[in-house]
Amino acid sequence: MIDLHTHTLFSDGQLLPSELIQHAKEAGYTAIGLTDHCDFSNIDFVIPRIARVTKELSKYYKIRVICGCEITYVPPALIKKAVTRARKLGAEIVIVHGESPVEPVPAGTNRAALASGCDILAHPGFIKKEDVMLAKKNSVLLEITTRRGHRNGNPHVAKLAKGLNANLILNTDSHLPEDLLDDKKTKDVLKQAKLTYSDFKQMQKNAYKLIR
Ligand SMILES: [Zn+2]
Ligand SMILES: [Zn+2]
Repeated sequence: MIDLHTHTLFSDGQLLPSELIQHAKEAGYTAIGLTDHCDFSNIDFVIPRIARVTKELSKYYKIRVICGCEITYVPPALIKKAVTRARKLGAEIVIVHGESPVEPVPAGTNRAALASGCDILAHPGFIKKEDVMLAKKNSVLLEITTRRGHRNGNPHVAKLAKGLNANLILNTDSHLPEDLLDDKKTKDVLKQAKLTYSDFKQMQKNAYKLIR
């Protein structure tokens, strides 16, 4: 199981990276991305610290741990700059916190993210058709999320992405150990998003391809 969107104590998650990794391993994960919330205030603090533990944890806990970040509420005009900065600081996966249906994320965030060079647009909400086409063109994965509230956008994202052949990824956006993926959550989210088990397999493949 691969899940590339999680939070630790370095933003608003409940666990230290080491704790989260061990919980994930116990839950049957083979790979996990640590993607704490970042803006320009903390990006140079968070990413190098996460990067410092990912190698050790991968080695000793035998689970692939990927250093990433989630660019969050950065003004759309500065998102590209933030993504570039994150990569320079050592983020292997860069997510942008998209226009969730349950938060006042600035309008234009989805579009700016898709043109920024990020890897994943998280919870893109009621994303426009032309933005889904841009995701496909720029090879940005659109997120299907198990997270309450954010997931209200799943059926819309799934339908447009499938219709336009854009690639999806399933993530949990875990903040607590009980948020991590299991069979029940997988089944529930697939049903809610109107996706099939073969879509799940494809989403896992897309995640694997990204981390390779
Ligand atoms: Zn987010
Ligand atoms: Zn998140």
